[in-house]
Amino acid sequence: MVKIGIMICDRNRTCTGNKCFKSIIDRDGAFAEYEENEPIEVVGWMACGGCPGERLESAPADMKKFGAEVIHLASCYLAGYPICPYLEDHKNYIEKVVGLRIKVGTHPMPRNYLNTHDHIGDWKRDGAAKWLTEVTRDTGGADKYDSTNPNFLKK
Ligand code: SF4
Repeated sequence: MVKIGIMICDRNRTCTGNKCFKSIIDRDGAFAEYEENEPIEVVGWMACGGCPGERLESAPADMKKFGAEVIHLASCYLAGYPICPYLEDHKNYIEKVVGLRIKVGTHPMPRNYLNTHDHIGDWKRDGAAKWLTEVTRDTGGADKYDSTNPNFLKK
């Protein structure tokens, strides 16, 4: 059993979380490293509170009280235009002050985001490649998680 918390970008604070939770069940994206038969308990789901991270000091610490061992900074940190400019700060704070491991990403980056970021060039400008490894490793995942695709979830 591994206990995790998920922190999402506040620009997506109304997100239902469907892709993140599907990727936990299917062990896609950043969840591919967990054993298929190892249960994952999500102890909390929170938005960061808005730039530069209003809830950073309180929410991960609360998750730790509920047993979180790892905090995932959700894929929306990287999907937005631009990527979160405070990602490194959030990672450092949670690791060094709260004392929890950080994984950047949740579900695979959907194809529509890959295409748009490639088109506008912001990922390259902002050095996003170092954060994208786990959410772009499986190229099939890009199509599987693209909800703009007319065949989304039809197979
Ligand atoms: S600090 Fe980052 S994660 Fe939070 S709202 Fe701003 S861009 Fe999103």
